[in-house]
Amino acid sequence: MGEKKEVILSGIRPTGRLHYGNYFGAIRHFLRLQETDARCFYFIADYHALTTISEPENVFEETINMLRTYVACGLDPNRAIIYRQSDLPCTAELALLLGMITNIGHLERGTTYKDKLSKLQEDPKAEGNPLSYGLLGYPVLMAADILIVRADQVPVGDDQRQHVEMAIDIAQKFNHRFGETLHIPRAVGRDALRLPGLDGAEKMGKSEHNTLDLLDDRETVLKKIRAVETSTDPLPLHSDSDDPDVVIPQMPAGVGVLYRLLHLLAPEEVYRDFLGKYRRREKFYGMLKNTLAEHVSQFNAPIIERYNDPANSREFVLAFLRENARRVTPIALETVEACREAMGIGHSLYRA
Ligand code: ATP
Ligand code: MG
Repeated sequence: MGEKKEVILSGIRPTGRLHYGNYFGAIRHFLRLQETDARCFYFIADYHALTTISEPENVFEETINMLRTYVACGLDPNRAIIYRQSDLPCTAELALLLGMITNIGHLERGTTYKDKLSKLQEDPKAEGNPLSYGLLGYPVLMAADILIVRADQVPVGDDQRQHVEMAIDIAQKFNHRFGETLHIPRAVGRDALRLPGLDGAEKMGKSEHNTLDLLDDRETVLKKIRAVETSTDPLPLHSDSDDPDVVIPQMPAGVGVLYRLLHLLAPEEVYRDFLGKYRRREKFYGMLKNTLAEHVSQFNAPIIERYNDPANSREFVLAFLRENARRVTPIALETVEACREAMGIGHSLYRA
């Protein structure tokens, strides 16, 4: 038992360009875990993208570009199994099976669903997709993604914590009813990150138009950072701590985003230095923005370069997608077959 490798699984929706929330909430951990002897599965959640995407022709292109960004960040399709969710269609079969034991009430408490519901109640004509069965069932599909490869750990940002908990609940319920079949993953740690948006919203999100993108060039970075709202007077900090989780929530929202990014991207002493300026209420926001923009550009210049490397081509991505779909399929089918058996319908008669 002790020899079983730790299994890691995480996915990102191809709904736009990767941003710093995706990087520090998820990809940074993918890179760290890829260096261990864990078995890593990193996928592009193209089925999940369909709950919000309205332009069909974009999904495939977004998927390819996102995979090129994965590679540019340092993810390695030889060390991690990097695949496309829809190339593992038995995930949908597992989601169907899990759906049979999932209470609607449980799904109606999902934050993504509740947010969409309240947006539609505010503005019934809001653009975008309807309040769909697919959106309500999103956590069931996500449970299938996680459970199908028998994941131990799911490195995601804080916004996805609840969905991982739902996956754990669904798996426990399945095992309780049908016997020990599914492997139960661990819950997401309390230290998971939630990076705010450049507009000061509590979350930066691909679909929120408030992102600093990983592939933004120097000029765009500077423009976006300069536009962050910092006209409110600094609020006093009620703590001597340097801990960003303690002090940043006490700052005005826009300023807080800048400090959060500075803490993630600049050396610790630069962050501390600017925290001191904040405490002394010096006039420094212009300097803070320029310094931050410089650190962002230093950080992402090599990523942009690798993204544009001719070797990081569409053909390269398509080749490893095919190969990795072949690697993950037998692992996933084993779980689906076990669930079929446990639920009493028995093994598929056409699969080998
Ligand atoms: P969308 O708005 O289309 O849902 P998104 O930016 O929320 O896009 P996802 O594809 O839903 O990105 O999530 C990919 C990963 O990035 C998940 O692990 C998620 O928790 C993480 N993530 C997304 N936004 C943030 C954020 N602001 N801070 C930390 N982690 C984040
Ligand atoms: Mg999201």
